[in-house]
Amino acid sequence: MFDKQIQMVDLRGQYHRLKEEIDAAMQTVIENGVFINGSQVNTFAGHLASYLDIPYVVPCGNGTDALQIALMALDLKQGDEVIVPAFTYVAAAEVIALLGLVPVLVDVDPKTFNLDPRKIEEAISSNTRAIIAVHLFGQSCDMEAILKVAGKYHLYVLEDNAQSIGAEYTFSDGKVKKTGTMGIIGTTSFFPSKPLACYGDGGALMTSDESLAKRIRMIANHGQERKYHHKLIGCNSRLDTLQAAILDVKLKHIDEFTKARQVVAGRYDEALAACDRLVIPEKSSFSTHVYHQYTIQLKPDGPDMAARRELLQNRLKEKGIPTMVYYPMPLQEQDAYKWMARMPGNIDKSAHLSKCVLSLPIHTEMTEDEQIYIIGTLLESL
Ligand SMILES: *Cc1c(COP(=O)(O)O)cnc(C)c1O
Repeated sequence: MFDKQIQMVDLRGQYHRLKEEIDAAMQTVIENGVFINGSQVNTFAGHLASYLDIPYVVPCGNGTDALQIALMALDLKQGDEVIVPAFTYVAAAEVIALLGLVPVLVDVDPKTFNLDPRKIEEAISSNTRAIIAVHLFGQSCDMEAILKVAGKYHLYVLEDNAQSIGAEYTFSDGKVKKTGTMGIIGTTSFFPSKPLACYGDGGALMTSDESLAKRIRMIANHGQERKYHHKLIGCNSRLDTLQAAILDVKLKHIDEFTKARQVVAGRYDEALAACDRLVIPEKSSFSTHVYHQYTIQLKPDGPDMAARRELLQNRLKEKGIPTMVYYPMPLQEQDAYKWMARMPGNIDKSAHLSKCVLSLPIHTEMTEDEQIYIIGTLLESL
């Protein structure tokens, strides 16, 4: 056993690294007593907008709300179709369904886990209005290809950037953009384990479009611009002042934290690349990788894949090493969605990934010794 409890994410360790700054920021909010819409909320939104290099950032209650508000702001009508990856977190499909829209499941590229742009066109119908590009695990979808097909069919592109904030996409002309700033609206989550995270729930939307930013702000605030004058049907979705103050501190360190995870990923890459029983995560040529997760795929393939993975997980757990399966079921197998989603093409890659992916511990506080122990134990447990 390793002499310290190994964790998927070490939030406590990271807090202790930033303790003085975080404590001071929280103390200021508590002393001021403005817990809702305190000045720290706008300050943080401004700092995040500069970091991402986008004109408008609107904070909200969580990443799922952000997706819902984004779709509401686009004024889609019942029955309109929205393309989502089949292998992903449920949030995007959920809000699509809640708004009376139809999720259309498209397969992912098993190398990057992201929406396969080559499979989008065949999924488009006369009802398709939007694509939600989910930047999974820390790297960008192939945005140039996605924007191109979206342009051809006049579709909105939304980016769910909950897992990849800080990643950079390079277009073929050399132009570099941060994830979440390339589509019409980007969304993110500040859930505690995400790359930019607070100490509870939080989220935000980003856009370059001024009138859309105004609509988003109204929708998140009961559809009102002026108090008690409700122009739109909205919701109540706010980022707490305390969370904004914490996020403002963490934002200052985001690049240093990304770097720390990249170092951890580099060590995994080096130690695991030669192992023929697994596939290490591939870095795409067009995106940097911020490693929200370090997700390997187990080989060889077979019908009992998921069972063998569980065996491995249990063996590692006995040795004090946590692992996670993101995600054990693709959307087409989920009871809530399998009957109502449209699945025009082959989505087998997503089903396959669900059986063979395994995410290893990765976080900003991981030591080299800890990692040597994880790698050694993994290799002898395979
Ligand atoms: C976490 C996450 C969400 C949801 O964020 P919450 O803040 O938990 O609502 C949405 N999409 C993706 C890809 C996520 O990882």
